Amino acid sequence: MERDEILGWLKELDESRLEALWAQADAVREARVGPEVHFRGLIEISNHCVRHCQYCGISATAAGIRRYRMTEEEILACAEEAKAYSYGTVVVQAGEDPGLTQAFIAQLVGRIKERTGLAVTLSLGEREDDELRSWKAAGADRYLLRFESSDPELYRRIHPSRPGGSTALGGYRGRGLEAGHLLSKSCDPGAAGRMMGETGDRP
Ligand code: SF4
Repeated sequence: MERDEILGWLKELDESRLEALWAQADAVREARVGPEVHFRGLIEISNHCVRHCQYCGISATAAGIRRYRMTEEEILACAEEAKAYSYGTVVVQAGEDPGLTQAFIAQLVGRIKERTGLAVTLSLGEREDDELRSWKAAGADRYLLRFESSDPELYRRIHPSRPGGSTALGGYRGRGLEAGHLLSKSCDPGAAGRMMGETGDRP
């Protein structure tokens, strides 16, 4: 689809027109991956975060929430439950939490693999190169980077960098690949929606 057509669909409210679009999307899904459904167990291991993303309910400045960080045993128990449900993957996810150290995550990944044999995806925010490398070496299969928007200007605006840090998204992608991770990304069409009429494109 061309840019204008995509923007038109993002603004479309007519249910009958949307039904046709969804049917088309379903046909593409059927052609590409067939009728299988793969379950992934998402384990939110911590809601601490040092960042200030504008759209996020657990940002460093979000008030009125109870912060937690799971213990290794609690996380392993969840992974074992996922295994019992025949899930193929666990996604170990958290805010950008310095309390989740390189050593803790590396050991955790190793233990999940050892006890369950499940594929492990990590989603822990923008982390350092040596952390990415050590987690890959410990057995992590993928690194999921949720970045909400590939528009650099929108990204900077909604996802301010840490003091002294950067939000060089393209560079981060390169570093992740260099560390041997299969990177996945996740975008937020809502973030794009907020920008329609401003820059007008690029979710
Ligand atoms: S890095 Fe993630 S968890 Fe932290 S504030 Fe941003 S979106 Fe929220």
